[in-house]
Amino acid sequence: MGNRSEAQLNGGAGCKGGALNEGASESSLFPTYARYPISLVKGEGSWVWDDKGNKYLDFMSGLAVTNLGHAPQKVKEKLKAQLDELWHVSNLFHIPGQEQAARLLTANTCADAVFFCNSGAEANEAAIKLARRYHQKVKGTGRYEIITFTQSFHGRTIATLTATGQDKVKEGFLPLPAGFKSVPLHDLPALEAAISKDTAAIMIEMVQAEGGVHTVQPEFLKAVDQLCRKHGLLLIIDEVQTGMGRTGKLFAHEHYGIEPDIFTVAKGLGSGFPVGAMLGKEYLREAFTAGSHASTFGGTPLSMAVVTATIESMLEEQVPQRAAETGQYLIERLEAELGTHPFVKAIRGMGLLIGIECADPVGELVLAAQQRGFLFVTAGPNVIRLLPNLLVTKPEIDQAVSILVQIIHEHTAAGSMI
Ligand SMILES: *Cc1c(COP(=O)(O)O)cnc(C)c1O
Repeated sequence: MGNRSEAQLNGGAGCKGGALNEGASESSLFPTYARYPISLVKGEGSWVWDDKGNKYLDFMSGLAVTNLGHAPQKVKEKLKAQLDELWHVSNLFHIPGQEQAARLLTANTCADAVFFCNSGAEANEAAIKLARRYHQKVKGTGRYEIITFTQSFHGRTIATLTATGQDKVKEGFLPLPAGFKSVPLHDLPALEAAISKDTAAIMIEMVQAEGGVHTVQPEFLKAVDQLCRKHGLLLIIDEVQTGMGRTGKLFAHEHYGIEPDIFTVAKGLGSGFPVGAMLGKEYLREAFTAGSHASTFGGTPLSMAVVTATIESMLEEQVPQRAAETGQYLIERLEAELGTHPFVKAIRGMGLLIGIECADPVGELVLAAQQRGFLFVTAGPNVIRLLPNLLVTKPEIDQAVSILVQIIHEHTAAGSMI
């Protein structure tokens, strides 16, 4: 006993006696991420600073998370106020903030009921569970299968990586659960052929963002919707990345004039606070009964204060509309500067979720841009993905485009010299 507490006082941890193992890595983290050699320590609006005082124009927004920019004032104030009141209570109690946030979401979307969780994968898990349970408990059928699309991305849990239509996220994780099938996007015959008596739902993104910024064609989505109605399937739309104003509407499916049975949201929902939600139609409500699904941290007072402030800010400041306008401006600037450049194969996207498909891998461009104080991310090897915050200004867009043009010219000039 005595020895042990002495070791602890000396900073010694359990079985290693406080010393690093021979050959142990410098980091105590699992190496799940290939990290850039930058440590960001502060953010405000469209800008972030690293620990050396360098300033960066942020066109990745934590991967479509900080849609209102870094540290938005109203959200910050609400979060600080809530910190003084109550952080967490169990869902065994009524949580007024949860009712309020849910009502804001249902009042401004086609959904009637909300389940709060903590991430995109969890929101999709909830959607998959709700779809199965609706068919099995309400409809009394054995339907369970979810059809998704190749190049889709739905998360990293065992079920959501199985739903994801990309083999790379599945490697080494066998066996995968049964009940998922992927067909190519925009291949209607393949989709029809995949539907069976076991099919419960079709799950789709309006823009395959991780998969290379590919937008769903309106005629295809209409046909998917019709197939769902014809066969009694639920239509699940994954709005984890496209939601919260990103594409120029509060949710991307609003562009298409269809109403999903279920849709999921996470990334932009909490302005950087981890929170997700699964939303569904009235007739799905009875599928979930007390005890059928739960999350310890789902919808705590702290996260709900942030969600409410985020949605209110988006509505008050007409943020989706601004994203549509500045997105249009960004596309026009890119077309004007790079539209005919041989390195650029296509410029596409919706609102402020924009992809620039290039002739070669763009990993080096990411690093070159960082050196110039500009941050963006890729979507697959050849696609530059631009995700500025939705309140980004035109001068900031001009600055971003000018850096991008410079590094593409330098990159291609260097390449042609070899
Ligand atoms: C990021 C993302 C997810 C996963 O969200 P996590 O919060 O990382 O679990 C799911 N679907 C889409 C479309 C995403 O972009």
